[in-house]
Amino acid sequence: MPPDGWRNKRMRIKEFFFDRNNDIIKFMKTKIRKIDKNQIDETIIQEAGEILKEGGLVAFPTETVYGLGADALKEQAALKTYAAKGRPSDNPLIVHIAEYEDLKRIAVNIPAETDILAAHFWPGPLTMIFEKSPSVPYGTTGGLDTVAVRMPSDPVAQALIRAAGGFVSAPSANTSGRPSPTTAEHVAEDLDGKIDMILDGGAVDIGLESTILDMTVTPPMILRPGAITAEMFEELIGEVSVDETLLGDESEKAPKAPGMKYRHYAPKAKLLIVEGDLREEILAIRQLSYAAYREGRQAGIIATAETLPFYKYGIVKNIGTRENEKTIARNLYRVLREFDEEDVETIYSESFAVQGMGKAIMNRLEKAAGHLRISAAAVVKRQKYRRITFVGKTDCARAPMAAEILRHYDLKQEYVVDSRGLVVLFPEPVNQKAEAIMKSAQMTLADHVSRQFDAENLQDDALILTIDENQKNKILSEYGREYNVYTLNEFVEDDTEIPDPYGKPLTAYGECFEVLRGLVGRLADKLDSLVEEEE
Ligand code: AMP
Ligand code: MG
Repeated sequence: MPPDGWRNKRMRIKEFFFDRNNDIIKFMKTKIRKIDKNQIDETIIQEAGEILKEGGLVAFPTETVYGLGADALKEQAALKTYAAKGRPSDNPLIVHIAEYEDLKRIAVNIPAETDILAAHFWPGPLTMIFEKSPSVPYGTTGGLDTVAVRMPSDPVAQALIRAAGGFVSAPSANTSGRPSPTTAEHVAEDLDGKIDMILDGGAVDIGLESTILDMTVTPPMILRPGAITAEMFEELIGEVSVDETLLGDESEKAPKAPGMKYRHYAPKAKLLIVEGDLREEILAIRQLSYAAYREGRQAGIIATAETLPFYKYGIVKNIGTRENEKTIARNLYRVLREFDEEDVETIYSESFAVQGMGKAIMNRLEKAAGHLRISAAAVVKRQKYRRITFVGKTDCARAPMAAEILRHYDLKQEYVVDSRGLVVLFPEPVNQKAEAIMKSAQMTLADHVSRQFDAENLQDDALILTIDENQKNKILSEYGREYNVYTLNEFVEDDTEIPDPYGKPLTAYGECFEVLRGLVGRLADKLDSLVEEEE
């Protein structure tokens, strides 16, 4: 355990760096240096190394996220790190090394499996925890007798560690509580004026923090999931365990990595993870974002390349492709930061499979959400119909007119509204007289093309409304009775006959339009009243 003096020293540092409001005092000019990892400029590295040796702070790229570097063997430097980040000082730092030999100088009682793990995963996104040697100050370990060690693979990180003397403590280079930085710009957003230098090596590769494996227990225990997964460890060293507090919010116990107890990565808006099968998640998020839109707000949506086209309302951001979860890991923190710039109160996120890297993605996403989840199925159940299809004979006049009239209503829920015909031999534009009448009512069917009704139109969430009895009966006899098929008159309980204007003068189309307008108005009321009943 740390000696008593440690805490007093910490207090003095605190007074020096913080003003009365506990805000860090901005007083530094932060140098920003671009650096190319394929062609490292040694003079920049030397300059940065000197800063670290003198006890200063340098942010630098690693393959996981940007780190905020300090000399790991200097107590003062660690305390500065906590101050710059506004991080609670019981949250220990990871010590970064560039040579495997150097592990022995900071750790003792290193278990045998370490060699195998290091041979496979170092340099790389793995942090291992060992008993600390006396050379590591308690400032660096947050008062613990153990030390977390990683060997990063990014060439800039390696060069900097060597230039600094071999031991660089580095938490993520963000303000505590903000999403971790994956670009130098993110670092500057949070730490400009609070640290000596930022090495700008461009965007990082992985985008999520390292896997943390506690080597002081048997079997070793994963304290934080990352790009290196339990399965990858188990292939090499047999069983590993997983800190049970990582699995959800139900656990009462404190997580074993002190940092995991804090609400990390939090965006300003309330983030909710929508859980279910993907189809339901999409439907639920559509419903929720439409509800926000109706109240004059914009919801944020975290979507994937595959699901992007399904969202019409709200501010939608693409987090990557479901075919490659690495893209999702890489973009997660950037997307969360970008939402802080948007005027959104609530963000809905799709969820991701909890396998391999997906475990780390969901772990970070759930932390960002403060474990707020909603069941997609429960949201979806509240909306009985999602598609409304008007069916006429040719899909050239009455059915498309009814559809377009309905689309002009500001309904309480979002519906896909369209029309079909039972006898469509080839696609045709709308009847010209019908279009003339629509235009006189400030509507248009200029983009409409007639389409044949088929089995695909009969989904559980589809409401099929036919123009007359014949069409209804034909659908029932052909496809069975288990679908929601009604005549428009029947559904709205109004038997005003819909006249057939075909071959008649323009005025007949006008009369037909008026009847449709009346019936569709009743339909809109009925749809909204169905929503009220369910609420
Ligand atoms: P960051 O620097 O933001 O990647 O956070 C470092 C993480 O490593 C935090 O969650 C710490 O709590 C954890 N950590 C560092 N050292 C130890 C240690 N000795 N024992 C357990 N967890 C540690
Ligand atoms: Mg962090």
